[in-house]
Amino acid sequence: MTTTVATRTISHWLDNQEFAGTGERFAPVTNPATGQVTGQVALADTADAQRVIAAAKAAFPAWRDTSIAKRTQILFAFRELLNARKAELAEIITSEHGKMLSDALGEISRGQEVVEFACGIAHLLKGGMTENASTKVDVASIRQPLGPVGIIAPFNFPAMVPMWFFPIAIAAGNTVVLKPSEKVPTAAIWLAELWAEAGLPAGVFNVLQGDKTAVDELLTNKAIKSISFVGSTPIAEYVYATGTAHGKRVQALGGAKNHAIVLPDADLDLAADAMVNAGFGSAGERCMAISALVAVGDIADELVAKIKERTVGLVTGDGTRNADMGPLVTKAHRDRVKSYVDAGEAAGATVVVDGRGVRADGEADGFWLGPTLLDNVTTDMSVYTDEIFGPVLSVVRVDTYDEALDLINSNPYGNGTAIFTNDGGAARRFQNEVEVGMVGINVPIPVPTAYYSFGGWKNSLFGDTHAHGVEGVHFFTRGKVVTTRWQDPSQRGINLGFPQNN
Ligand code: NAD
Repeated sequence: MTTTVATRTISHWLDNQEFAGTGERFAPVTNPATGQVTGQVALADTADAQRVIAAAKAAFPAWRDTSIAKRTQILFAFRELLNARKAELAEIITSEHGKMLSDALGEISRGQEVVEFACGIAHLLKGGMTENASTKVDVASIRQPLGPVGIIAPFNFPAMVPMWFFPIAIAAGNTVVLKPSEKVPTAAIWLAELWAEAGLPAGVFNVLQGDKTAVDELLTNKAIKSISFVGSTPIAEYVYATGTAHGKRVQALGGAKNHAIVLPDADLDLAADAMVNAGFGSAGERCMAISALVAVGDIADELVAKIKERTVGLVTGDGTRNADMGPLVTKAHRDRVKSYVDAGEAAGATVVVDGRGVRADGEADGFWLGPTLLDNVTTDMSVYTDEIFGPVLSVVRVDTYDEALDLINSNPYGNGTAIFTNDGGAARRFQNEVEVGMVGINVPIPVPTAYYSFGGWKNSLFGDTHAHGVEGVHFFTRGKVVTTRWQDPSQRGINLGFPQNN
């Protein structure tokens, strides 16, 4: 049973203030650790979406003409405020998503890295110039912002995923409409308030709360020039198809089914630690979580025993307490994940650690499911074929490296993968042969640092451009080439002051 503890309403944000909108639909926001409804989030109607997009459109001309020096100063101010106050944001994330406070702080730090990367926008936006390309003719290339851009985020990283995109978008001179997941709507408003405090002009960063209605307006409204989407694969495909059909630049990051291969020569203790961390961290609700462990050769019994030993001691509980792993995001999602465990067991998988009857350190109505380890999983079981997005680690046993590689390369997803080995030759072969966008060698969750780019292959990303890094700068700008000839150049005027940027 769910109970309501407060009637807090979370609304939209435009022109540096909250905007209630005229939409009459609301969705409940729940604390997953208590099961209680803690607020209602506004679900935009089309008129609300158009109003927020109009604010971003109106703010664009002045923001794109704001000097890089001034834009960078605001980014630095935002970075300082975020760094000083991130504990507040972590509390918001934990109260709506359920992850441990330390994990929430971890995602903020990874988002902050992108802010820090974007503080170097002056260097990143430098174009090229060729003098005398023809006689007295110079050619220069420059990159300019796109205009108002849309960002559509999933529930599992309420701060980090939006921060993969908006620091670079804003630094490059675009204006932003962020549509957070309706399950975790408050972090976006907190970030919007921080931008206002940092001195960002009204209309540059806006928040549109809602569901498909809000998304559809972003995808079809002419003012929006690009879409950065992160979420499940079916919605990513829809967003990519609809956004590109409406002339937009789209990067749509989808779901995942990440495999880790453990070779017989690997350090099995290191591998077992890594599997527990990557399989159960954030209750498996990470797009880079390891979901399938592929044990090669005769190590499987020993490896499974080591993982079991580490898993049985994990504490599932309220993210604000001293636990290891929090609840799942909603009751419906918890029930869905649990049903995959039931189906795996019925299909013949061995339940080595069973999280279904977990005694959590938290309220009885929390959406609990403990870490679950399944052995002897086969590729026809739904627990293997589907993205589960919960604390379920499936062990698939194979005889050779080639069989393991074939499993990964024939999987429709290609987000992240890892290999555990002490054999440099095998690792090098793997990095060369595996058809996945982000590869870890003895690193279970190989999330690239902000100055590289994040993104998967195959059904894990639709579009050409990955998130952040140099690819992010390219996504949020477009190139222009200027060819110039001056017959009689002259510069007049006297100013003895030291030249300043302003
Ligand atoms: P989701 O696809 O349900 O929702 C993502 C966004 O799409 C939300 O903002 C939601 O409001 C919106 N949306 C939902 N249904 C829609 C519809 N019918 N039409 C238009 N918009 C719709 O995803 P989620 O459950 O919030 O997040 C989990 C998923 O995100 C998992 O599949 C996970 O793998 C994926 N994910 C991927 C990455 C990555 O980098 N590839 C990162 C994080 C999460």
